[in-house]
Amino acid sequence: MGPRLIIVSNRVAPPDPKGSPAAGGMAVAVKAALKNRKGLWFGWSGKVSEEPDAKPQMIDVKKVTYVLVDLSKNDVQEYYNGLANSVLWPILHYRGDLQEYTRADASGYIRVNQLFADHLSPLVGEEDVVWVHDYHLMLLGRELRARGHRNRIGFFLHTPCAPPDILQMLPLHEQIFGGLAYYDLVGFQTANDRDNFARYLTARGGKPVRGGEAYEIDGRQVKLGVFGVSIETKTYMRLARNAGRSAMIALVKESLGGNKLALGVDRLDYTKGIPDRIRAFERFLEDNPDWRGKVTFLQITPKSRSDVKDYADIEREVTGLIGKVNGRFGDAAWTPIRYVNRSYSRTVLAGMYRAADVALVTPLRDGMNLVAKEYLAAQDPQNPGVLVLSEFAGAARELDRALIVNPHETDGVAAALKRALEMPIEERRERHAPMLAHLESHDIGRWAEDYLSALAEGRTSRRLLDSLRVFFGTQQGREPIATL
Ligand code: UDP
Repeated sequence: MGPRLIIVSNRVAPPDPKGSPAAGGMAVAVKAALKNRKGLWFGWSGKVSEEPDAKPQMIDVKKVTYVLVDLSKNDVQEYYNGLANSVLWPILHYRGDLQEYTRADASGYIRVNQLFADHLSPLVGEEDVVWVHDYHLMLLGRELRARGHRNRIGFFLHTPCAPPDILQMLPLHEQIFGGLAYYDLVGFQTANDRDNFARYLTARGGKPVRGGEAYEIDGRQVKLGVFGVSIETKTYMRLARNAGRSAMIALVKESLGGNKLALGVDRLDYTKGIPDRIRAFERFLEDNPDWRGKVTFLQITPKSRSDVKDYADIEREVTGLIGKVNGRFGDAAWTPIRYVNRSYSRTVLAGMYRAADVALVTPLRDGMNLVAKEYLAAQDPQNPGVLVLSEFAGAARELDRALIVNPHETDGVAAALKRALEMPIEERRERHAPMLAHLESHDIGRWAEDYLSALAEGRTSRRLLDSLRVFFGTQQGREPIATL
């Protein structure tokens, strides 16, 4: 059968029969990893069924097999809404105070990780490489090892990783975060995230080995690495060029009546700093009466995780604040903030980015933030817009010519918005060009390739080394390096 790349993530996005490209950042990333490789993508179907032991659904499309398992109502509540999204998500984003931990949810999380391992185990060939994605599945490596798999198994954390003091706020942290030590390689978005996890392992008695690139803990060695996730830069540039000329975008521009457009695009999530951003826009209007009636702030905010309480709270807060600002500054002919609770296709979004003079990407904490990267790729290089970017987004480590702000400082964000709206074209081009060049050389294909090469390193078995060459040897002439 030959070696395959097995990707595991909470949700799987099988190809759309209509052929439209995958929407979310993760789906695009996984597709890039599977490009030109024989593979399998395993995860939850998104469906609820009371027969968790039922055989997973398998769909073969070209060289990839999609394997989808259903979960029970209880599984979804305890594992997905519970431990993953009401406990791990806030903790990893430095909001340990928001966690709503229960023992039942922790058991559900462990149970679903075991269920995934039970279904996946018979499908894993001896030579396959397994790559697990994100905080929902921290224990999958351990569970696969417990079922006898000695394959290369890697993990990538798409979220930030908080410092040890915050990770330790999770009651079962030794088991859950400690579970990451069962992977051969754990990848992080930024050096800061990697260092936080290294300090967590050290606090638990882990010792750096192999010149500090790996840690030894409880008799296991785990390598830690930094791989900032990215976008399909070239494809996105093309998409935005065409979308910018579409009828839909022409309508949006016409509706602005010559106003400048400031854009925010975020899932409705308390990590995204939407209320702080609205307050900053309000401060900007307070401080700059000349700009009143001349700029429109469009906030595109698809709802997410509505079953989790904190998400209902943030929704109320955002709606209230927007109503307040529009009531205070708006008039019959001008609405300062347009607020949209729907999700747009990649194409429409690319056109909106292209039409926007400023993007306000001001999360309080974000693993990477792909919107920041997409916005830059979507600009007309001759007349680019300006990115205002939070220093607490992983993307700020790479996109250092953006206007970097602290989202907690209302005055600072308001001042950056004014500067962005008034920035001369030469400075806009000077800032945009190096960041676009960076995104062209560090696209999503490079991310997948760098991660998988690092996962392959350290192989000793000749046979496995040969099998890994199928993945890496033919790609840009790279050879896997046997370091052990
Ligand atoms: N997105 C989309 N339609 C929308 C809003 C967002 O397709 O209406 C996509 C956006 O293009 C990006 C992803 O959702 O690729 C959001 O990724 P990001 O890293 O910014 O944040 P996350 O939601 O993963 O926290």
